[in-house]
This record gives sequence, structure tokens and C-alpha cells, in this order.
Amino acid sequence: MEEEGGEEYLFKIVVIGDSAVGKSNLLSRFARDEFDANSKATIGVEFQTQVVQVDGKEVKAQVWDTAGQERFRAVTSAYYRGAVGALVVYDISRRTTFDSVKRWLDELNCHCDTTVARMLVGNKCDLENIREVSIEEGKSLAEEEGLFFIETSALDSTNVIAAFEIVIRAIYSNIGRKML
Ligand code: GDP
Ligand code: MG
Repeated sequence: MEEEGGEEYLFKIVVIGDSAVGKSNLLSRFARDEFDANSKATIGVEFQTQVVQVDGKEVKAQVWDTAGQERFRAVTSAYYRGAVGALVVYDISRRTTFDSVKRWLDELNCHCDTTVARMLVGNKCDLENIREVSIEEGKSLAEEEGLFFIETSALDSTNVIAAFEIVIRAIYSNIGRKML
């Protein structure tokens, strides 16, 4: 339904991945162009929204944050409900977070169907000097699992908008396909 003066589409996008990979900062960089250097537990903030233009249409991206639930391996099914896009984030300077990606994909598959647009995100690419996961490894995992792939830095803003926009465009074209 198109509302007068309102957005034409609302897309729920979830951001998942191990604790401290930079999920909350990717969100705040995307929605408010802000970065928080203190690693505070995100409490209370459920989602942030940002309006983007796709094909001249207004799309409201409602991006959900785990709000620290992932520390207890307790991301609820309500978190995933209705999601049409997902960013699976790891930290390029911490291999264990890359090793967890498959577990996050399994969890996503338990709660969402295969039409959910998925992006593998290697965050903290500003930390090149302490990199533990190569770009090639990220790319090949993404290929294996059928995901888009990008490296980002929430700290210096590299590719953050691009990561969300690629997912939003993919969701948008999925909807077009469904209507055919
Ligand atoms: P979350 O637990 O996945 O939500 O991670 P946070 O967004 O809270 O970030 C965890 C820590 O990593 C914080 O200290 C952030 O300042 C830091 N951080 C987040 N993104 C980046 C980044 O792109 N580069 C660097 N160098 N640090 C980052
Ligand atoms: Mg967080």
C-alpha cells in the first residue's frame, strides 16, 4: 500500500554475527553516520531505520540489532520473524568470528526461508595490519554459500552504505520476481 508522503516499501533486515564484530556500529554508521569507540553492550535499541531510494521509490530499511543477545547464544525467533534481508558479520582481525559464520547461517536457515537476501560482511577492514582472514577466504565462503560479499569498516565508513544498499536492491528485485 502506498501512503501519501510515506515510504512505498518497508524491509526488515537483521544483522547477525558474533559479539563485538561491529554489528551495532555498522547500524549506527548506516542510520546516523555515527561511530562509538567504546565497546558498550547495546541495550534496548531494537532497530534503526533509514530511507533509501531504489529505482525512484522510497524504501524504508528497518535494520534490527541483536542488542547483545548473541553473547548468550540466545537470539530469539522474534528477532528473525519477517526478515527479508540479513547481514552476517565477522571481524577480519578475529578468525574465530569467521569460523562462526556457518553457525549463524544455520540459525538463519532455521528461522527464515531461502529467499532472504544475504550478505557476508567482513568488518574492520581498517585493521589491515592485524588481519587474520583474507579477502579471498571471505569471497570463497560467500560463493559456496550463495551470499553477496563485501568488506567494510564502520570506523572509517568504508562500504557501509554499499553493504546495506546491495541487500536492499536484492530484496527489491526479489519482490519484483515474486510479482511476475
Ligand atoms: P557488536 O557487539 O557486534 O554490536 O559490536 P560493536 O558495534 O559494539 O563493536 C565492538 C567493538 O569493535 C567496539 O569497540 C567498536 O568500537 C569496534 N569496532 C566496530 N566496528 C569497527 C571497525 O570497523 N573498525 C575497528 N577498528 N573497530 C570497530
Ligand atoms: Mg551490539
